[in-house]
Amino acid sequence: MPTSSETDAVLAGREAVLTELRCAQRLIVVTHERPDGDALGSLVAMQTLLLALGKDSLMFIAPDELPLPYEYRFLSLNGLITQAPDDLDERTLVFLDCGNIARNPAASTLLSGTSEGPILNIDHHHDNTRFGAHNYVDPGSSCTAELVWDLARALDVELTRELAEALYVGLITDTGCFMYQNTGPRAHEMAAELIAAGVDVHAIYQQVYEGVPFGKLALLARGLAHAERYDEGRLTVAQLSAEDFRMTGAQESYAEGVIDHLRAVRGTAMAALARDRLDADGAAALDPAGARVRKVSLRASDMRIDVSAIARELGGGGHRAAAGFTTTLAWEDLIAFLREHLDAQLRVL
Ligand code: AMP
Ligand code: MN
Ligand code: MN
Repeated sequence: MPTSSETDAVLAGREAVLTELRCAQRLIVVTHERPDGDALGSLVAMQTLLLALGKDSLMFIAPDELPLPYEYRFLSLNGLITQAPDDLDERTLVFLDCGNIARNPAASTLLSGTSEGPILNIDHHHDNTRFGAHNYVDPGSSCTAELVWDLARALDVELTRELAEALYVGLITDTGCFMYQNTGPRAHEMAAELIAAGVDVHAIYQQVYEGVPFGKLALLARGLAHAERYDEGRLTVAQLSAEDFRMTGAQESYAEGVIDHLRAVRGTAMAALARDRLDADGAAALDPAGARVRKVSLRASDMRIDVSAIARELGGGGHRAAAGFTTTLAWEDLIAFLREHLDAQLRVL
């Protein structure tokens, strides 16, 4: 439960962000790299909201993120830019669903030219570094889209179907279709309002979760075939190599969802999926020293485990039950690291 001073800080941040949004005329909205449903849903919703308020708002997505993962391609990208605009230093920057500035290398580059425009930081990660001039960071919120929904209501923006759909995408993807423990009454209240505004629940479900490319199914099969268990099954892991992606014709984003199967295995306290980052040619990405770069996703199945603390050890972060980091550790060293930290957390319980 948040303390009253934490609640006060959330409310103060909310007010400050509302004031800035009311006053600013020119803005840019950005989200984290490799954007997921909440990142894109809250980004597009914020852009839609700002345009509805008559603002001159641009939506920045780095060129290498485009085209978007197939699930999210139906979202409208009004005002999309892929390069910094000339008047960057006169614009207010609005970060969405981004726990720290390092999670958006492109936006960090974007920012390096400017320190003039204020940064607004709207997010729900408990380990958010509060990098904004104004931070509306509420870890009690199921998704960043829930915060954008709250702002839209406070700003009297009409909930059009387009806006409601973008918000709904963020809501269902971050709550696992209302099944994760972050799902509270507010998430369902929000859903009810979005449905009343015209969201076709089944159509969005099909858009986001069906129409699965065959390569995604084939990648899942490989991920499951690579599953390994350690420590009487308390740790369930799998890896996906650049070869797995090449053989199945899968894109990086197709790995989404594999870890849910690992997490669900009986006896698992923590699940991990390590996948090679791919370079532009689809080969394993290497760091300047020639080491293979892996993206690691962590999930807690035992609610006493805080995987975000483990991810932070290696420069990542996230939520207690879902977190991630990027590493060049060799596979054996990565397994040793995960076993050690899982064991340490279980021992103090
Ligand atoms: P993923 O495993 O990529 O689905 O991410 C799970 C959660 O961890 C999401 O809330 C992400 O925002 C967060 N996360 C993933 N990678 C990082 C990172 N490198 N730094 C901070 N947070 C992360
Ligand atoms: Mn996200
Ligand atoms: Mn989120």
